[in-house]
Amino acid sequence: MSYDKNNIFAKILRGEIPCNKVYENEYVMSFYDHNPQKKIHVLVIPKGEYIDLDNFIDKASNIEIVEFNKGISQTIKILKISNQEGGYRILSNTGKYGGQEVPHLHYHIFGGERVGKMVV
Ligand code: 5GP
Repeated sequence: MSYDKNNIFAKILRGEIPCNKVYENEYVMSFYDHNPQKKIHVLVIPKGEYIDLDNFIDKASNIEIVEFNKGISQTIKILKISNQEGGYRILSNTGKYGGQEVPHLHYHIFGGERVGKMVV
């Protein structure tokens, strides 16, 4: 499976579609989901062209992998939803069974209220 350069998140990264940004640096970007499932629902994506976590770990450089994880943590700090501030859930849908709609690696961060059962 090759990376689809026309997926929605690729368009957001190219600035062709607007988003409500939370954090951005050279390697990572986070922005509010346009159809929030919880009070706070933010997506974190690497800037490189990776379909899912396996593809990312296989192909990305160590700096990209480190910076993606730091970007998640930085986003949590900005949102003020750390463990001490109430906490959050991180989720990454992968492939058909995982319910992935956008074929660009992304982590969902849910918070701002009780997130509920782990899987529905
Ligand atoms: P997935 O099902 O692939 O894990 O999640 C994709 C997420 O992207 C969904 O939660 C959906 O609401 C969000 N999404 C899809 N298109 C857009 C968009 O154009 N802008 C934003 N901000 N979020 C989007």
